[in-house]
Amino acid sequence: MLADPTVQEILVDITGDEENSVLIIGCMLKGKTTDEEIAEETEIKLNIVRRILYKLYDAGVASYKRSKDPETQWYTYSWKFDEEKVAEIIAKKYEKFSKEIEESLEFEEGNMFFVCLSNGCRYKFEEASENNFICPKCGGSLEYKDNSAVVTELRELKEKIS
Ligand SMILES: [Zn+2]
Repeated sequence: MLADPTVQEILVDITGDEENSVLIIGCMLKGKTTDEEIAEETEIKLNIVRRILYKLYDAGVASYKRSKDPETQWYTYSWKFDEEKVAEIIAKKYEKFSKEIEESLEFEEGNMFFVCLSNGCRYKFEEASENNFICPKCGGSLEYKDNSAVVTELRELKEKIS
């Protein structure tokens, strides 16, 4: 899953660290659980590893268990990366994106558009007509603009992600 650019993008969004995030998570997925193990394996500084782990924790995609070493009395933190949570975030993102496309498509299909020849502003038919086909912003004249290319593009996009 880490090879997926969408996954990487989300993880870097969370950690703000493009350089180290994927390496650290890859290491966790391979079964390393403590910050020291991860730092050693990846050769990334321990404080950077910790910072990234807590950022992942904060975003809900990593969790840890604390246990006390009976001999040394030190606490050990075993970290776990939650792949399912990442999949959930991606699913939600897609859902939002697909809704936006659906809404844009409805808007484009349900309207006729007019464009200002001077500044390129676009108006719906009703707005253009109310203003006698003169741009309310700059006084330029408005001309009909075919939006079938936009509609086609949106349809293709919708097809692609569904
Ligand atoms: Zn204008």
